[in-house]
Amino acid sequence: MRWKPSWRTSLAKKRSRVRPSRVLYGVAAAPGVAYGPVRRMEDPVTAVEEKRIRPSAVEDEIARFRAALEITRSEILDLRQATLHDLGENQARIFDVQLEILNDPLAVERTVEAIRVEHKNAEFLFRRHMLEIAERLEALSDSYFSERAADLVDVKRRVLRHLLGRQAKEPTRGKRGILLGREIAPSEAVQLDARRVLGFATESGGPTSHVAIMARARGIPGVVGVKGLVDAAAEGDMAAVDGFRGTVEINPSEATLERLKARKMAFSRLQKQHARLVGLPAVTLDGHRVKLSANMEMPTEVEFIRERGAEGVGLLRTEFFFMYSRRAPSEEEQLREYRRVVEAFPRQGVTIRVLDVGGDKVASYMGIGRERNPFLGMRGIRYLLVHREMFLAQLRAILQAGAHGKVRILFPMVTGMEEIREARRLTREAMRQLERKGVPFDRNPELGVMVEVPSLVLLAEEVAREADFLSVGSNDLIQYTLAVDRSHETLHHLYQPCHPAVLRSLELTVQAAHRHGRPVSICGEMASDPLSLPILLGLGFDGISVSPYLVPEIKQSIRALTYDVCRSLATDALGQPDARSVLELIETRLGSRFSDLLRLTRDGNGVSKKTKSARPRRGRTRKDGRPA
Ligand code: PEP
Ligand code: MG
Repeated sequence: MRWKPSWRTSLAKKRSRVRPSRVLYGVAAAPGVAYGPVRRMEDPVTAVEEKRIRPSAVEDEIARFRAALEITRSEILDLRQATLHDLGENQARIFDVQLEILNDPLAVERTVEAIRVEHKNAEFLFRRHMLEIAERLEALSDSYFSERAADLVDVKRRVLRHLLGRQAKEPTRGKRGILLGREIAPSEAVQLDARRVLGFATESGGPTSHVAIMARARGIPGVVGVKGLVDAAAEGDMAAVDGFRGTVEINPSEATLERLKARKMAFSRLQKQHARLVGLPAVTLDGHRVKLSANMEMPTEVEFIRERGAEGVGLLRTEFFFMYSRRAPSEEEQLREYRRVVEAFPRQGVTIRVLDVGGDKVASYMGIGRERNPFLGMRGIRYLLVHREMFLAQLRAILQAGAHGKVRILFPMVTGMEEIREARRLTREAMRQLERKGVPFDRNPELGVMVEVPSLVLLAEEVAREADFLSVGSNDLIQYTLAVDRSHETLHHLYQPCHPAVLRSLELTVQAAHRHGRPVSICGEMASDPLSLPILLGLGFDGISVSPYLVPEIKQSIRALTYDVCRSLATDALGQPDARSVLELIETRLGSRFSDLLRLTRDGNGVSKKTKSARPRRGRTRKDGRPA
């Protein structure tokens, strides 16, 4: 993000004359600060109104409709080109279907005809018409038609946006600015592009919602759970996002801009300092070493993760690769992508998690219908055990990638031993299939299990006996242990990583794994939070896998801690009655001195004297017990 305080500050002054500045509070979701014009995520479909037009205006209305189709066509061609460049021909072909729809006389000429006959506005008739077609297609179970239904919806949104003259609900393209909206779905989050999205804020979501994870991985500052955001900001406003403190200021004051500028400079100073740690190990002052790897959302992130100095990939979330597409990627496409990642980390290895769809991560072709409780429904391994062909194809791709480097396979959302046994059995079947094909593959893959559901914590002994390694998915483990939706917009204060029930679950898991000589790591966002880090180290995790952007910051913290202190801290934390007491304990024993990032978040290290009053009072705590 470029910072041009001079003109931007005067622009802020000008804006604030029109609309007063307003500070909104949410939850810090991705560190960093950003400032820029507001880009609202509008939903064009709900914005359409029915209007009558005069008979004399019919031809103008048709011309307006055709112009919107033309702009949409060139927009899709641009997207196709960009996707071709980033991801290759196969992914780019997705857009061909959309171009066909735009050329389809059935989709277009019927709207033109209806404008002539009914004398109503183009957006109303086009939406009605597209809705009818999409509903008919969606009802068909044939996957070709349901894929096409998703494309229809996409084309409809694009055309309506242009007819309405609204800002694109398009996180990838469009003007540079601060993206604000009610929510950003995972399928949209996967397209966040740091070159255009300088920062983001949403009304819904928690710090472990997928948009927060994606944004953190790409270094896009953000805030989630901001009440009243959508009503407070309009196109034409400016916004400042503070992803350290969790605030959004609409039409910010000059004092805010000065303060944010200082924080931004302090953060980039830190990042420069931490870049020197790239080649160094993640080892505590008293010599305790942990494996510090990175979480990867898309295979395209290889270079970025290498630059950050991660020891391999601790979690490759393959579902985003599947969601980027209108259909499941083929075995060959998967192999190509996995192989690229595996070859980039030949020594440290890559943990590839098999498809973890369901919950909020769904694509229309996956055939997961509307569920009453999606997070308790068709998710992760449950989905794969039903869609065996898809599972087997993915396993074959991963096993073949394993012929080119060290690969571990990880099963998500497991709730019991039968699922583990069945997943292992299918892995053996995939190996037999490859054997018959006579292609090279990894004949001895390590098979691991994610511990994300309380039932598996209680079965940790059995799991450790059966699995080659364990990986704790704290994002879900916290959600299921504390019965609080990880993306809930008003209950973040109940989503407490340091809740004693969570810590005791972690301890049970680590102990059971170690009793059976199995390595155990943690890959949820809790591991990327310097505040929880000393406890995780003290509990004895062998590896932690963090947001790629934060690898150097977490490494700095590890290198400033002593294992001895972490161990006694963890022991005492386990005896606390609530999260607040655990956080107070960390505060008393360590404060923030071991973590540059934590210090910056709290004290705004680098804040100029003029704005010192913006510092929080020491010891102030938020509802969830964390320091304000
Ligand atoms: C987790 O649950 O902690 C995890 C790593 O998986 P995801 O965030 O993808 O659900
Ligand atoms: Mg999970």
